[in-house]
Amino acid sequence: MSTPVFLVPETSWIAVSPDSDFSLNNLPYGVARFPKGEFSVVVAIGDYALNLSRLYKRGYFPELNTEKNPFRKSSLNAFIRLGRPSWTYVRRRLLELLDLKNTELQKRKDLSKILVPQSLLTFLLPVEISNYTDFYSSLEHASNVGKMFRPDGDAMLPNWKHIPVGYHGRASSVVVSGYPIHRPKGQTLPEGSEVPVFGPSRLLDFELEMAFIVGKSNALGESVPVDKAEDHLFGMTIFNDWSARDIQKWEYVPLGPFLAKNFASSMSPWVVTMDALQPFRTEAPVQDVEVLPYLREKNRGTYDIKLQVDIQAAELPAVTVCRSNFKYLYWTMAQQLAHHTVGGCNMQVGDVCASGTISGPSPDSYGSMLELSWKGSKPLMLAEGVERRFLQDGDVVEMRAYCEKEGIRVGFGAVRTEILPSK
Ligand code: CA
Repeated sequence: MSTPVFLVPETSWIAVSPDSDFSLNNLPYGVARFPKGEFSVVVAIGDYALNLSRLYKRGYFPELNTEKNPFRKSSLNAFIRLGRPSWTYVRRRLLELLDLKNTELQKRKDLSKILVPQSLLTFLLPVEISNYTDFYSSLEHASNVGKMFRPDGDAMLPNWKHIPVGYHGRASSVVVSGYPIHRPKGQTLPEGSEVPVFGPSRLLDFELEMAFIVGKSNALGESVPVDKAEDHLFGMTIFNDWSARDIQKWEYVPLGPFLAKNFASSMSPWVVTMDALQPFRTEAPVQDVEVLPYLREKNRGTYDIKLQVDIQAAELPAVTVCRSNFKYLYWTMAQQLAHHTVGGCNMQVGDVCASGTISGPSPDSYGSMLELSWKGSKPLMLAEGVERRFLQDGDVVEMRAYCEKEGIRVGFGAVRTEILPSK
């Protein structure tokens, strides 16, 4: 990866609360519809959003190498396609414009048309997703699931420490935070029966995940070396990979998940760039089985991102049911991308790769209801007399993610979703 840009102005003319996810160190990208109906790429600063399309039109990005406004769009793809030098330039330029000593933007009479309260905007899915892949990279999650479903065999399958296991998911049903989802219907096999029944899933679950967005494509037949893989990443989001456990159990042999996963996945509206995450780079877990050379990293590393899941049942306050961390993942994003492309698969700008459920070592860090309630045997208490084994209609699930170190906070906002009854 090229040298990260991390030029934080000592002071800015915009005041941002110290507990805001969207500090001046962050500058995450999203896409919003403005009150008059126009679309623009936006950057979050505290409770505000900066309209990049208007900034571009008014000539604030003279060195951006493009003839068309890449921000007057309903997705980030056109901007991402411009490549890393352009991402770096825009970040550097925004930090310049936000500096107290710089008057180019702060003195404008029409500033309120450029810097708008986020509460006035509708946020869209930030990228147009061509392909969505879901990995299975948490040792703790894979081992918990193994213990539950293969109590008499090995918790871990023999391939798991050699391959960043994953499957190709469904891009069309990825939705943005705030978009409610309906409980899926499908086939399940009742306990003790040999004949399946059809109906609404009874074991609806969330999966706490993060996703990376591919920022640079590779041609069909080409692979991305593991030590160059991070250079292909644009940024990251929170990702809730909804799962219907009862449908999954009946359908997944022999080809893996299908309807149990394809009804919806929810994504946060803000994409935090890899540049903004660099101060939070940390060591990844030591891999105790030697991997094949194409997965060996010279500078193995991951990111210290704190994660939290809240469930809010109707008319009750939200309860935090899980606290985990992205850094627990056994396989890194670089290894995931190297493996994904090693056979020559072409990744496209805007492709989304999710991490797999991010469970930590302790029971309160498990990233799904399946694990938190241990297959329904240990219900979670949300309030006096209100318990959950899996999710119910009317429940709202909210996932948050943020990095914090030495007073610097870089957050992802939230992905918040209400569960509606089956259609
Ligand atoms: Ca998943």
